[in-house]
Amino acid sequence: MITTKPTIEVARSAGWCFGVERIVQMAEKLLDETPDGPVYCLGELIHNPQEVARLRAKGMVFVKSHEELPPLKPGEKRKVLIRAHGVAPSVKRALHEKGYEIYDGTCPLVTIPQRFARELAEQGYRLVIMGHIEHPEIQGILGHLDGLNAQVDVITGPEEVDKLRLKASDRVGLISQTTHPFERFAQLIGRVLEHCLEVRAYNTICQATFDRQEAIRELAQRCDIVIVIGGRNSSNTCRLAEIASQYTTCYHIEDESELKGEWFWGKKHIGISAGASTPTHAITAVQAAIEQLVSKLSTASG
Ligand code: SF4
Repeated sequence: MITTKPTIEVARSAGWCFGVERIVQMAEKLLDETPDGPVYCLGELIHNPQEVARLRAKGMVFVKSHEELPPLKPGEKRKVLIRAHGVAPSVKRALHEKGYEIYDGTCPLVTIPQRFARELAEQGYRLVIMGHIEHPEIQGILGHLDGLNAQVDVITGPEEVDKLRLKASDRVGLISQTTHPFERFAQLIGRVLEHCLEVRAYNTICQATFDRQEAIRELAQRCDIVIVIGGRNSSNTCRLAEIASQYTTCYHIEDESELKGEWFWGKKHIGISAGASTPTHAITAVQAAIEQLVSKLSTASG
């Protein structure tokens, strides 16, 4: 039961990052310049179902892979957008060969692990990447190793180090998916160093991810409930929910329709955060809906 109205606080760093803002602006510009459509996009532009639906309604056609793109007739021009996660160079070559005009929206911060992965492999390091193998960013990074005889493992975190069966003589190069938590990467470096004499690690976690994770860690310790907004398929949003859950009750929602009044019974301090692909208007809508819910609960209890 609510006796006094709780405070609602949005994390100091939440929502759209620079890379997402940039790719959405690129998509809008391409759609405006192509009124007769279609503009193709490889994969969902961002991990936010509402934003994807909005862009689809404006004429963007999402395909799962370049193989799904229709062949072009002689002289026909079609545009294809590469999202912020990036792709393997072989995918760009295939698009080029098909005759598509390529608009590359790879986030500049995603090109950093792509570059370091290749550099480490070329220098003979055994590459260990912290990330999810099925994530498009990791697939793009792996694609940058084509043609190299590299030994590569993708693991989700330090607890998987034992399965690598590392030897003291292994020269290990470490990088991370841009959206993984920094402290897990630091633990991974420590675990690998327990086995190997030479470890070369690059901190490839992006600043926007780091800032959002630090902000939710700080906020969650002061709140008795935290709501995290963003696509369930969004890696960075899931990480935010994981971090908040270490400190308090946390619910991961995609929009305000999922909120439940009973979550807020007896709560004094409500925190809100959002993944890097969640637009500001979605955060505002959730905040307004929570305010309404707690007002109703306060009235009912009064
Ligand atoms: S989360 Fe970081 S790496 Fe990913 S798009 Fe945003 S700024 Fe770029």
